[in-house]
Amino acid sequence: MKISMVSEHASPLAALGGVDAGGQNVHVAELSRALAARGHSVTVFTRRDDPHLPEVVEADGGVTVVHVDAGPPVAVPKDELLPHMTELGLGIAAHWRAHPARRPDLVHSHFWMSGLAAGTALRSAGLDAVPLLHTFHALGTVKRRHQGVLDTSPPERTALEPHVGREADRIIATCSDEVDELAAMGLDRDRVSVVPCGVDLRLFDPEGEAEETGGKRRIVCVGRLVPRKGVDLVVHALAALTAEGFEDVELHVVGGGAEEACLHTDPEARRLRDLAQDLGVADRVVLRGQVPREEMPAILRSARLVACTPWYEPFGIVPLEAMACGVPVVAARVGGLQDTVVPERTGLHVEPHDPASLAAAAARLLSDPQLARRLGAAGTERVRAGYSWATVAARTEEVYAEVRGRAVARGGAGGLGGHLDGTERALASLRDQV
Ligand code: UDP
Repeated sequence: MKISMVSEHASPLAALGGVDAGGQNVHVAELSRALAARGHSVTVFTRRDDPHLPEVVEADGGVTVVHVDAGPPVAVPKDELLPHMTELGLGIAAHWRAHPARRPDLVHSHFWMSGLAAGTALRSAGLDAVPLLHTFHALGTVKRRHQGVLDTSPPERTALEPHVGREADRIIATCSDEVDELAAMGLDRDRVSVVPCGVDLRLFDPEGEAEETGGKRRIVCVGRLVPRKGVDLVVHALAALTAEGFEDVELHVVGGGAEEACLHTDPEARRLRDLAQDLGVADRVVLRGQVPREEMPAILRSARLVACTPWYEPFGIVPLEAMACGVPVVAARVGGLQDTVVPERTGLHVEPHDPASLAAAAARLLSDPQLARRLGAAGTERVRAGYSWATVAARTEEVYAEVRGRAVARGGAGGLGGHLDGTERALASLRDQV
């Protein structure tokens, strides 16, 4: 199959850990590579965010990345990209026209704005019969619920997301909780398939070097340095652990900008450092900044436990990476973490926003190394059985095949030309409603 992935802000070639570069980048890169390994021809279309990027990059693993001009060729926060989606869609269609070898048999878009661009591209290229599958990665309704006024998404997101869901021939959700959220948005459960994210098992493995901890017991958090990741809760838990006598425990926080910016200018880094200072644990909280993927396994292996306590989490690849390294996970009972972390088997669940139960769960693992080892080993087994990218790609391919089968049966009547509005028409109808 010739597959076009559309990932407007999340390039598979980007460095990870910055504000807008995390799990989606990993997902698009690894799924594309694993599909290419299964013999498909995969092209990823993403927005050019640097004037020096070549239009076409032949990336590792036989995947082609195409940088499309859409808006200024510089980094733009993803929440400001909506006005450029029509240009992105038209640019993708132009590329398909100029390079027939990359004209798709199927399009898979990632994140709501890519769904809009993919619809525009298909319509503009006249590819009405080509199926469109969509993965949201994150939902505006959930973000708004948890972040309230702090949510910087464009106001149109709430209305456009269901539109993207209706346009797509199939939605690929990454966890069961997302299916409920999609149903609450009015989308038909029968049009949703669940395929989780995966983990790179060649890189993340229990065997291999672990960072030296100097005799300290280490808790590790990994993720983009944004408030919703809930790292402040772990700092609170560290203070509570200290009060309980766990004075040799330290917290390493991985993610954020480059180290210099992380230490001095990043607002979330400053907030965490101030909090650690106020709680008297500043000497045991280490902000590591952005760490290249290759260095991640040694850091994870150095941990007694990995804490993932976000306010919400569409999927969460970090817990899989910890489990793959044989490390138990203490996870908030939210989103995808409810599917991946099995309480008392591969880790422990805590309620969200609850530093006291986080401290209690961490204390259990710190004082019972045998329990920690058992949960860590079971985690490795679990990810090896169900979360390799090869398994995820095979399952994704099954969904692609189902949809392609139906697209043929559907003929012209329900094809994309029949129900795709495209970005401009959707926006126009929104304006009419206002
Ligand atoms: N990551 C990384 N370096 C960093 C911070 C994060 O390589 O400094 C990676 C991390 O290992 C994981 C991804 O970024 O693969 C984060 O994915 P996750 O789904 O956990 O969170 P998201 O960023 O999507 O909210």
